[in-house]
Amino acid sequence: MINYTLSIANANAHHFEVELDIKQPDPNGQLLSLPAWIPGSYMVRDFAKNILWIRARSSIANGSADSDEVAIEKIDKQSWRCDPCSGTLSICYAVYAWDLSVRSAHLDQTHAFINGSSLFLSVANREKQKCHLNIISPSDFPEWKVATAMPIDKVNSRGFGNYLCSDYEELIDHPIEIGSFVRGDFSVHGVPHSIILTGRQSADLARITNDLSKICEYHCNFFGDKKPPMQQYIFLTTVVGSGYGGLEHRDSCALICSREDLPLSDRGKIDDGYRKFLGLCSHEYFHLWNIKRIRPTQFYPYRLDAEVYTKQLWAYEGITSYFDDLALLKCGLISRESYLELLSETLTRVERNRGKEIQSVTDSSFDAWTKFYKQDENANNAIVSYYTKGAVIALMVDLWLQQESSGKYSLKNVMKDLWQQHGTTALGTDEKTIEKLCHKVAILASGRDIPFLTAALYSTKQMIVEPLLKKDGVKIEFTTTPFKPSTHKTLNWLGAELNFSSHKSAEVRTVRNDSPIQQAGVSAGDTIIAIDHIQASIKSAKMTLKYKQIGDSITIHLFRRDELMELKVVVAAELNNYIKLTILDNNKKS
Ligand code: ZN
Repeated sequence: MINYTLSIANANAHHFEVELDIKQPDPNGQLLSLPAWIPGSYMVRDFAKNILWIRARSSIANGSADSDEVAIEKIDKQSWRCDPCSGTLSICYAVYAWDLSVRSAHLDQTHAFINGSSLFLSVANREKQKCHLNIISPSDFPEWKVATAMPIDKVNSRGFGNYLCSDYEELIDHPIEIGSFVRGDFSVHGVPHSIILTGRQSADLARITNDLSKICEYHCNFFGDKKPPMQQYIFLTTVVGSGYGGLEHRDSCALICSREDLPLSDRGKIDDGYRKFLGLCSHEYFHLWNIKRIRPTQFYPYRLDAEVYTKQLWAYEGITSYFDDLALLKCGLISRESYLELLSETLTRVERNRGKEIQSVTDSSFDAWTKFYKQDENANNAIVSYYTKGAVIALMVDLWLQQESSGKYSLKNVMKDLWQQHGTTALGTDEKTIEKLCHKVAILASGRDIPFLTAALYSTKQMIVEPLLKKDGVKIEFTTTPFKPSTHKTLNWLGAELNFSSHKSAEVRTVRNDSPIQQAGVSAGDTIIAIDHIQASIKSAKMTLKYKQIGDSITIHLFRRDELMELKVVVAAELNNYIKLTILDNNKKS
């Protein structure tokens, strides 16, 4: 057994202290390391950079030395080697935690949030051994409590005390929240579920738990077993002024949401913000099957010292992104119109993306580490999202299977097979497993393979979704303006995304390939100060277009670094690349 003790050393300095006790350490010198990345977020983040100091000692003094200190040497960016010693080896170290995200760790006088991958060193060749964690109650914060789905060994009424995991992978798969959160409990097929909210908020917790229980129940029934495959589940939610994000775990998820996205008790229907929050919860909950228990072969086990490549994220993130919003419709939380609004947004993102012309969705998955997770100003020209394109592929496969089989088969059959063959068995999926399963269900549904799937996954060929939607009773229209105009200080203008937050100029955030702005020579990072000799503002940008015809020129004055440039933009027709979906026939819904 490996024993970890976690203490809040200095909340104001954001310091945790961890003590790690290893009985019978490696006689050749114990190796220790911290993960470079956290499962679910495919980017090397080098968590070890936050280890401030580290010391080692032994329960038996070594040789002739009086001291029980054991020499410990750093051997690469995330690994240490201790000198050979006998007795129990104790490692003590401090970790700086000041990243308020779902991926890392955060500590101040208001709360503590912990991902084990940021805090707990793994012991080389002992990763399969049981891990015991003792969370020490901080004397400075007597009202704080613990929330985690980690299996309890023996804890007090506030959750401080001993937890027990079957191995290191489990230890780092249970995020921990410590603080004065509020908690709402509900049950799904007899399994206890809860949501905790940390941060200042006045949300209607009863309403959230009621809505979440419907979503969770829907997903449990979806995979066919009804009873979910865990003992408990917790939505660990950090509420902030402005934020959005989630990370899936086996028995819980970590969420960040905006305060205004949570419902107040006097709020009537589900508004856009709350719909977004419920969609996020639905997404992470679906992952407890689709990526946590059904997994790519490459993730058995997770190798956390470096990148692990897979082409399958179109399925693990794309299919999850498709069913997250669909579940809200299917369990009666949102209307069909509301669902089509969400689908319009997804289809528009794919339609307006230029990266899909040069990168396939499987390549996007493979390159997630250096491209999708490291997006720059050229991302929309260079990268296709395996989330959005993957969701559209899932939509198309789902509609095609249903339409070919008169509703007898759907993508749900694929997911249920996947769960039975790869989830309940913990047998990883190879690069083509999910694609083959789609075709297998297609043979049952129609006697043939899905005709568009190979091209959708491995090529940059345009996907044609229109006939499938039309058959489903949905009308698709292409327009030049967003479904819902943005209200903030950005404007899409002749192929550039302009940010007017300074009031006196516009910063060019992105430039679309082959757009009038690019042809004029404007680049991302430029600062436009005048549009047709008038100071740059949202108003002047919009007005100029109003009075110009296609083919007319607009003079732009801008600074590139500190150098003034004058450029001519030739006005072109706006692109029809915003998608609006409406109900054509309410009887044809699937
Ligand atoms: Zn996801």
